[in-house]
Amino acid sequence: MRKLASIRRIADILPIEGADAIEVAVVDGWKVVIKKGEFAAGDSAIYLEIDSWVPYEIAPFLSKGHEPREYNGVKGERLRTVKLRGQISQGLLLNYWDFPEVVTAFHKTRVVDPNDADRSFDVTEILGIQKWEPEIPTQLAGQVRGLFPTSLIPKTDQERIQNCFADIAAKGDATYEVTLKLDGTSCTIFRWENELRVCSRNLELKVNEENKDNTLVKMALRYGERIPNGVAVQGEVMGPGIQGNREGFTEHKFFVFDIFDIAKHEYLSAYDRRLRCTYAELEYVPIISAAALAPASVEEGLAIAEGPSINHPIREGLVWKCNEDPNFSFKTISNKFLLKGGD
Ligand code: AMP
Ligand code: MN
Repeated sequence: MRKLASIRRIADILPIEGADAIEVAVVDGWKVVIKKGEFAAGDSAIYLEIDSWVPYEIAPFLSKGHEPREYNGVKGERLRTVKLRGQISQGLLLNYWDFPEVVTAFHKTRVVDPNDADRSFDVTEILGIQKWEPEIPTQLAGQVRGLFPTSLIPKTDQERIQNCFADIAAKGDATYEVTLKLDGTSCTIFRWENELRVCSRNLELKVNEENKDNTLVKMALRYGERIPNGVAVQGEVMGPGIQGNREGFTEHKFFVFDIFDIAKHEYLSAYDRRLRCTYAELEYVPIISAAALAPASVEEGLAIAEGPSINHPIREGLVWKCNEDPNFSFKTISNKFLLKGGD
């Protein structure tokens, strides 16, 4: 699980033009609007990332006096991208002294390991924060066989540039395959011990007669023959009924973005997976560049993220996969997309 809530250091505090009650805190690659004087540069604070589902008890003010909403049985609110006085604000900063359990856990660790290699201290579980995910439409729900088999194949998650810029900078002039981030639903189709299997982002679905109307199972049955034993093909399913079908496709399409060799337990290189897709006549996610340098800053990455997708003027963003290290990748999400309510 990702660190949705962690103790991090505030790098800087910046003014907002024309505003005297609020200012901006900079935390890694994130900018968060705070009350003036609430924190100072150099302070450590709890940072909660966007899409955190925050329990009501932790931050009751998020409900703005309304009855809190409910997600997975927990009353609270979802952190979204907002604009205040023209300033984008993403996430929430809390004072960790307000949470005794956090203080105890944090200080225990500091005593044991004062040179903590990881600069951020995970408090996601202690605070009961969950990752908010859009509801799965019934046509995608289907009959579940089990959880995503992470012992065989990695999940399709991507880290945000705001959280991993130090790692990107450390890779120097490595090159990246940059592809469009398509706003559909994740689908992993694989064959293992000669059995065709299919997964959504977090679950494995049954591939059988009863489940054949499920969109992901349909994709597995349509493309399964092209996938040899021991190979997992991961891609985005797009089309009617999925994420509002912003691209306006008239039928369901499967765009491949990764191929994993299950026996070797490694991803194919970008070059190899494109070759395989051409050979198997599988559609590949639109390529922006086959070998681009990483953005020089978070700001530059977010600027490049803006632009059109296939049939829409505002894309979700881009995904960057390192050519030299197939295990390293990250995403840059368009702030225009987030401000328009995209998830
Ligand atoms: P997110 O859903 O924002 O956490 O981002 C990760 C998801 O983006 C993955 O699970 C994929 O389903 C999806 N995705 C869409 N387009 C791409 C792409 N070009 N490369 C990798 N993942 C992608
Ligand atoms: Mn998505």
